Amino acid sequence: MTRVALIAHDETKPDLIEFAQEHESQLCGYELVATGTTGKRLLEETDLEVERKESGPLGGDLMIGAEVADGALDGIVFLRDPLRAQPHEPDISALLRICDVHDTALATNRASAAFLIEGLADEH
Ligand code: PGA
Repeated sequence: MTRVALIAHDETKPDLIEFAQEHESQLCGYELVATGTTGKRLLEETDLEVERKESGPLGGDLMIGAEVADGALDGIVFLRDPLRAQPHEPDISALLRICDVHDTALATNRASAAFLIEGLADEH
């Protein structure tokens, strides 16, 4: 099954929730994983089933990065806060890097996230 990770920083969580609600019919066909707080909000505010990793600052980004290294993930939607550096910036950079190493689809804004979700539907 297609496996997709969803991650958002605090300022962009409302955008991710809205995106997930808008694309719920497509996303419910995927196996979803998310960082801790993002996953909690998705479970509360959508009908999607989501596996939750640790919160980003506690290593959740790295846990998702490990799945990329294992070849377990087909794509990542990561709505980063473009205006504020996060305390766990090195972990975020590591996740972006491992996506490039493994040529794993990664979207960091809603416009590209929509393409990613559509594209994965065509691919599998
Ligand atoms: P969170 O982590 O979903 O637990 O807030 C996201 C992040 O900060 O990378």
